[in-house]
Amino acid sequence: AAASSGGIVAYAGSKFDNTAEQTQVAQKKKMVVLGTGWAGTAFLKNLDYSLYDVKVISPRNYFTFTPLLPSVTCGTVEPRSIVEPIRKIIGKNKLLFNWFFILLSQKGEEIDYWEADCYKINTVGKKVLCRSKIGTNLDGTGEFVVDYDYLVIAVGAQVNTFNTPGVMEHCHFLKEIEDARRIRRSVIDCFEKASLPYLDEEERKKNLHFVIVGGGPTGVEFAAELHDFVAEDLTKLYPAIQDLVKISVIQSGEHILTMFDQRIAEFAEAKFQRDGIDVRTGYRVVKISDNSITMKCKSTGETSEPYGMAVWSAGVGTRPVIVDVMKQIGQENRRVLTTDEWLRVCGCDGIYAIGDCATISQRKVMEDISAIFKFADKDNSGTLTVKEIQDIFEDLCIRYPQLELYLKSKHMSDIADLIRDAKGGDVEKGSMQLDIDELKIALAHVDSQVKSLPATAQVAAQQGQYLAQCFNSMRDCEEHPTGPLRLRDSGRHRFRPFQYKHFGQFAPLGGEQAAAELPGDWISIGHGSQWLWYSVYASKQVSWRTRVLVISDWLRRFIFGRDTSC
Ligand code: FAD
Ligand code: MG
Ligand code: MG
Ligand code: MG
Ligand code: MG
Repeated sequence: AAASSGGIVAYAGSKFDNTAEQTQVAQKKKMVVLGTGWAGTAFLKNLDYSLYDVKVISPRNYFTFTPLLPSVTCGTVEPRSIVEPIRKIIGKNKLLFNWFFILLSQKGEEIDYWEADCYKINTVGKKVLCRSKIGTNLDGTGEFVVDYDYLVIAVGAQVNTFNTPGVMEHCHFLKEIEDARRIRRSVIDCFEKASLPYLDEEERKKNLHFVIVGGGPTGVEFAAELHDFVAEDLTKLYPAIQDLVKISVIQSGEHILTMFDQRIAEFAEAKFQRDGIDVRTGYRVVKISDNSITMKCKSTGETSEPYGMAVWSAGVGTRPVIVDVMKQIGQENRRVLTTDEWLRVCGCDGIYAIGDCATISQRKVMEDISAIFKFADKDNSGTLTVKEIQDIFEDLCIRYPQLELYLKSKHMSDIADLIRDAKGGDVEKGSMQLDIDELKIALAHVDSQVKSLPATAQVAAQQGQYLAQCFNSMRDCEEHPTGPLRLRDSGRHRFRPFQYKHFGQFAPLGGEQAAAELPGDWISIGHGSQWLWYSVYASKQVSWRTRVLVISDWLRRFIFGRDTSC
C-alpha cells in the first residue's frame, strides 16, 4: 500500500521493509562478506553478528590503513604499524556483543573468516566460488563454494594500466602493504646501484631518476615523501651522488591534484617547483621498457627518458569478478557496479555493494516529478500550494540530496524561493498555486547537481557503517513495518537512503606542510595543516595498537630520521 504513494517513497518496497513471511523463519540468514578493506571492515565493526550467520572471505587477513601507505614507502612509518588483523577486529565486536549474550543468557556468536579470493559470483544460484592460495583441498585446487542469502561485496578496485605496454612488468604500484615495502627496498637499491664504482655519470643519473606516473593525491603524496626522504636522510648517506637525483611527476591533465581546490593545486605545483620536483603536465605515458619511459605531449610529440624506478598511480580499474557480475545482471555497459541509494545492487536479489567497487545511481527529481506532485498534493486538487510543497521539502531533500545542493548553489534556503523564482517574483505567497508544468519548470535544473561519490576511504567506511546499521535493524523493521512515515521518524534514520558526509580532504606536500580542504570551502595550507593531518590520521586508526605504533613511528622519525635499512 505504501508503495502506491509513488516514487518518492519507492524505498518502502525495499528489502529492509519486507513484511514477509521471513519473520517466521527462525533460522539465521546466511551472509557472506567479500573484502576486508575500508568498506568491509567498517561493515564488520558495526554489524550485530547475533542476527546473521556471517562468513568473511578475503585474500588478506588484515585491514590496511591506506592513507599512510605513502609514508611506508620511505620508512616514515613501519608496515606493521598500519595493518590490523581482521580476526582481532572481528573478535572485539564479538566481545562487545558477548555482554548482551550474557544478559540475555544466550550463546556467544561465531563468525568465520576464510583467507581466499572470490573468483566468481553466481547471482542466480546465490553462491560465491572461492579459491584459496595458501592451501589445497582434496581435489588439489583449494576451491570451495559458499551459499548466501545476503552478499556484501566490498572488494575494492584494482590498478588500471590503460593497457599501456610495459607497465605491468616494469612499474611499481602503490595499493597494498607489499607494494610499499617493495618500493622502499627499490629506492635504496637505486641509490646503492648509483654508487657502484664502475658506472659513468649518465648511468648514475639514470638510476637516480624516480618517475611517478599520475598526479592524483597518491602520486603527489609519494613524490613529496620521496623528496623529503632524499633531502633529509639519503643525501647525508650518499653525499657523492646527491646532486644527480631527479624526481618527475607525469600527469596527463593540465594540473596535478585536480580533485582539490585550484588554490591547493597551484600551491602544490609551486612548492614542487621550488623543491626541484619536475612536474610534467600534459604528458601521457605510452610505453615503458626496462630502462626508458616513453611519453607523448600534444605540442612536443614523443620523448623517451631513462629512469631508475617508476611508480604507476594513474587510475582505478574494475576487478574481474565484478566485471563478471555486471555481465550477469545487465550492467555491462557501466564502469562500476551500480547500486541504488540503499546500496543494493540493481538488477539482482540480496546483493549489496560498498566502497570502491560500487557507485550509487542517484534518482533524478525529473524522473519522479509526477509522483512527487501527487505525493505533495494531499487534497487532490490538481494544484499545489507553496505550503504543500514545503511540507514535503524535508523528505524530498533526503530522497534527492541534489535538491539541497542546488538550493545552496543558488544561495537559497527554501524551496519556496525556487518556485517564486520560476513563477515570477510578484506572486502573492499565500495564494500561489502551482500546476505540474510549473513544478517541472521550477525543478528543471536540480538534477544538474547529481554527483557521484569519490573512491575514497571516507566514502567506503561510511557506506560500510550505514549498511551494517540497515542489517542490524532489518528484523526490527520486518516486524514493525510502518510505511512512508518512517522517513520522517528521526529515530529510524537508518532507513533513509545513504547520505555521504564529507569531512574534508588532505594533501600532504612534504617539508612538514600539508593542504587541507575542509567543509564550507575552508582551505588551509602549511605547517598547521600538517599538524591537523597528524592528529586526524592518528585518531582514525582502527585500534589503539596501531595508533600507538604510528605515533611512535612519527616520533622516532623526528628524533632519528627515517630508517634506511630494509
Ligand atoms: P579496499 O580497501 O581496497 O579493500 C578491498 C578488500 O577486498 C581487500 O581486503 C582485498 O584484499 C579484498 N579483495 C580483493 N579482491 C577480492 C576478491 N576477489 N575476493 C574477496 N576479497 C577481495 N582515501 C581517503 O579517503 N583518504 C586518503 O588519504 C587515501 N589515501 C590513499 C592512499 C593510497 C596509497 C591508496 C592506494 C588509497 C588511498 N585512499 C584514500 C583510497 C582508499 O584506500 C580507498 O578508497 C578504500 O580503500 C576503498 O575501500 P574498499 O573497501 O572499497 O576497498
Ligand atoms: Mg573492503
Ligand atoms: Mg584497505
Ligand atoms: Mg564507490
Ligand atoms: Mg493541492
